Amino acid sequence: MKSRFRKLCRAVLFAGVMTGGGGMPGAETKPAPSPYGPLSEAEKQVILHKGTERPFSGRYEDFFQPGVYACRNCGAPLYVSDDKFKTDCGWPGFDDEIPGAVVRKPDADGQRTEILCGRCGGHLGHVFAGERLTPKNVRHCVNSISLVFEDQRSERLRRAVFAGGCFWGVEALFRKLPGVWTAVSGYTGGTTEHPTYREVCTGKTGHAEAVEVFYDPGKTNYETLCRYFLEIHDPTQQDRQGPDVGTQYRSAIFYLDDEQRDTARKLLAQLKEKGYAVKTQLLPFTRFWNAEPYHQDYLRRNGGVSCHRRVSRF
Ligand SMILES: [Zn+2]
Repeated sequence: MKSRFRKLCRAVLFAGVMTGGGGMPGAETKPAPSPYGPLSEAEKQVILHKGTERPFSGRYEDFFQPGVYACRNCGAPLYVSDDKFKTDCGWPGFDDEIPGAVVRKPDADGQRTEILCGRCGGHLGHVFAGERLTPKNVRHCVNSISLVFEDQRSERLRRAVFAGGCFWGVEALFRKLPGVWTAVSGYTGGTTEHPTYREVCTGKTGHAEAVEVFYDPGKTNYETLCRYFLEIHDPTQQDRQGPDVGTQYRSAIFYLDDEQRDTARKLLAQLKEKGYAVKTQLLPFTRFWNAEPYHQDYLRRNGGVSCHRRVSRF
């Protein structure tokens, strides 16, 4: 397995280090309005002209802090640190993407699959399947120079995680909120790794259906998100939400830092003072597992109607 993997890595190398021409002909990407300023010449070479940075030269190749990786060209969130793994290959490796964030295209070499930012078309690298390096069996081989890492103290990109019943409706409503980059349906708060929808539905994994929200703290803030969450679902229902019954539909706020915890605690206390018998749990965030692709952006893609709607409570 290892030798096969090395062969793949060499294939990436031979495709041209710091050269252009690895992608789709005539599909040149333009610089996008970026929160990170104009691209340097080296960044243009990779992001716009589909070059490849030298192996072991990028700042994220051996970097494993918790946080989010954004597109250098446009700022869109692309990957989270939970999906990053050590590859020994010279470039950062991820075995999953933020759903909907990355586009795949056949490479001009006729063999590989190029990956691009879904928002601006900036070149990221290539994706490989079948190497069996992780249980997901996928490796996004991404140039560090195409990415900017943002942790939870970032002024441009932060995360929040909420569970409020069926994730379809919660996700759809968060996607509409100003200042939100994107929202993802998934599972958190349980004990098993790589949970599936079928497993979570049994209630035995301990996971809740949840939504991971990626937001711009320059345009909105956690308190706004948290208030919104407490108004788009019913925080007084115990282990259910409308017609959906079971612990996987429980109401919970998973905080990523002390500031989120204190804000959520304050808002839950306000609701209790107003007479609401709040059942929402306040729990530390551990990790978020993306739900299966068919659950992502479900209501928009399928034209469904959400059980969730906003009710004024504050
Ligand atoms: Zn982009």
